[in-house]
Amino acid sequence: MNLKGITAEKLVALYRNRDLSVTEVISGLFDDIERIDPNVRAFITLMRDRALKDARSLDARIASGDTIEPFAGVPVAVKDNISIRDVATTCGSRMLESDVAPYTATAVERLRGAGAIVVGKTNLDEFGMGSSTENSAFFVTRNPHDLDRVPGGSSGGSAASVASGMSLAALGSDTGGSIRQPASFCGVVGLKPTYGRVSRYGLVAFASSMDQIGPLSKSVREAAMALAVISGLDHYDSTSSGARIGDYVRGLDRPIKETRIGIPKEYFAGNLDPEVRRKIESAIGLFEGLGCAIEEISLPHTEYAIATYYIIAAAEASSNLARYDGVRYGLSETGRNPGEMYRRTRMSGFGTEVRRRILLGTYALSAGYYDAYYNRALKVRTLVLRDFQKAFEGVDAILTPTTPTTAFRIGEKTADPLEMYLSDVFTITCNLAGLPGISVPCGWNSTGLPVGMQLLANHFQEGLLLRLAHYFEKAGGFTL
Ligand code: GLN
Repeated sequence: MNLKGITAEKLVALYRNRDLSVTEVISGLFDDIERIDPNVRAFITLMRDRALKDARSLDARIASGDTIEPFAGVPVAVKDNISIRDVATTCGSRMLESDVAPYTATAVERLRGAGAIVVGKTNLDEFGMGSSTENSAFFVTRNPHDLDRVPGGSSGGSAASVASGMSLAALGSDTGGSIRQPASFCGVVGLKPTYGRVSRYGLVAFASSMDQIGPLSKSVREAAMALAVISGLDHYDSTSSGARIGDYVRGLDRPIKETRIGIPKEYFAGNLDPEVRRKIESAIGLFEGLGCAIEEISLPHTEYAIATYYIIAAAEASSNLARYDGVRYGLSETGRNPGEMYRRTRMSGFGTEVRRRILLGTYALSAGYYDAYYNRALKVRTLVLRDFQKAFEGVDAILTPTTPTTAFRIGEKTADPLEMYLSDVFTITCNLAGLPGISVPCGWNSTGLPVGMQLLANHFQEGLLLRLAHYFEKAGGFTL
C-alpha cells in the first residue's frame, strides 16, 4: 500500500466500504517505513505495536458496522516534543533521551479521538531550536527530495515523514516558523494556527508566548480536517481560546472572489532567491486570475523582527529550560554538591545551540540589561503587531514567500548561527504577532526543490487561509 496519491478522505472511504482493512494498510506502511526511513531518518521512535493494536480494534469496529470518525485509520506522525503517554518524548535532546511522558498532549488526544493512528515520534532540532533538524542530539533528518539537503526545522522529521509517504499527516510545533519552513522545504502544507487556537498542553515549552501546535499534510483539505479536530478550549491550557471553531472543511469551497491580498514590499527585498521570487510572482498572478484584488502593502518593522524574536525566544527558553536540573526530569549527573550536579547535568544534557540560547536569554533578562534588551524587544513586538493590525484594515490576507531560499545543503549553515537565524526572516513576524499562517507548495525550482508560499491572516482567520490555500492548490497543482 503506497500512500502516495491517496488522501485521508479517500483512505477512510476505502475502509468504510471494506475495500481495505486498517491492519493491512498500517502493517504495509511499516514495511514502507522500514524501506524509506533508513535514508530519510524522520523518526526517533516508531510505535508499531501500538499502531497495529489500534488498527485491529478499528477493523473490529468497522466489521461490527460502527460509524467511523473522519481520521479513522489515518496514519499520523507526531513531533517528538509533543507528549504521548508511556512513549519517550525526547525533544531531540540527550537531556530527555530516557524520559517517558506521563500524559498525552491534548492535540494528540483529540486526533486519536477522531480515529487517527499515531505511527511514531519525529525528529526535531533540540527543544525546537533550529531551522534544519541538524540540532537534533541524535541524527540529522534528510530532505526526501534531495538527501544531501536539510528538510528544514525544527519540525523537519514531521515534514519529511509526510513528504516521503511515511504518514498522511503530522503534528508539528511552530514558535518561529518550525511548521511552515520545513513544510516549504519538503513540498507539503504546514499550518501554524493563531496563538491559543490549539491547546499547548503536552507540548514541551520552548518560548511559551509563541509556541503553537499545528498540522503538516500533503493537501490543504487534511490540514483543515486536522485543525477542526485539534482546535478549541482546553482547561489544561489557560491560553487556549474558546473562540468559535469554523467549519474549516466545508468552508474550503466558499468563494474567494474579491478577497483582498496584500503583498508586503519588505518581504521581496535583498536576499530573496530569484527563482523563489519568480514562483511567488506567478502565485500572485494566479490569485489575480481567481478574482482576488492584489495590493502592495508595507510592514515597516519587519527589519527588526529577527533581533526581536531571538531576544524574546531566548529569554523565554532560558526560563523554561531551568527546570532541567537533574532532579525532576531525565538526565541526572552526579556531583559533590547540588551546584556541581546541576552544572554537569546541564553541560552534558544540552547541545551547543540550546546552551547558546540559554546564555543569551539569561543575559537579556539579567538586572542590568533587562530594559535594554528584553523590555525593548517587547515594545518592538507590539510595533510588529501594529503593522499587521494596520495592514488588515485594508486587506484580508497577506502573501509572502515562506523562506528566502529553497532547502539548503546539510552543513551549509551550521558554522554560523546568524546565517541560520536569517533563514527565519519571513516566518517569525507571524509568531511575534500571534497570527495564523500557512505554507503551501507553489512549484519547484530548476533543480527540482519545492518552493513554498506563505499566507497570513488576522487572528482566528484560519478558515480564510485554508480556503485561499485550497483554491491555490486546485489551480496550481503543486501537491506532491
Ligand atoms: N528556527 C526558529 C528557532 O530556531 C524557529 C523554531 C521554532 O519555530 N520552533 O528559534
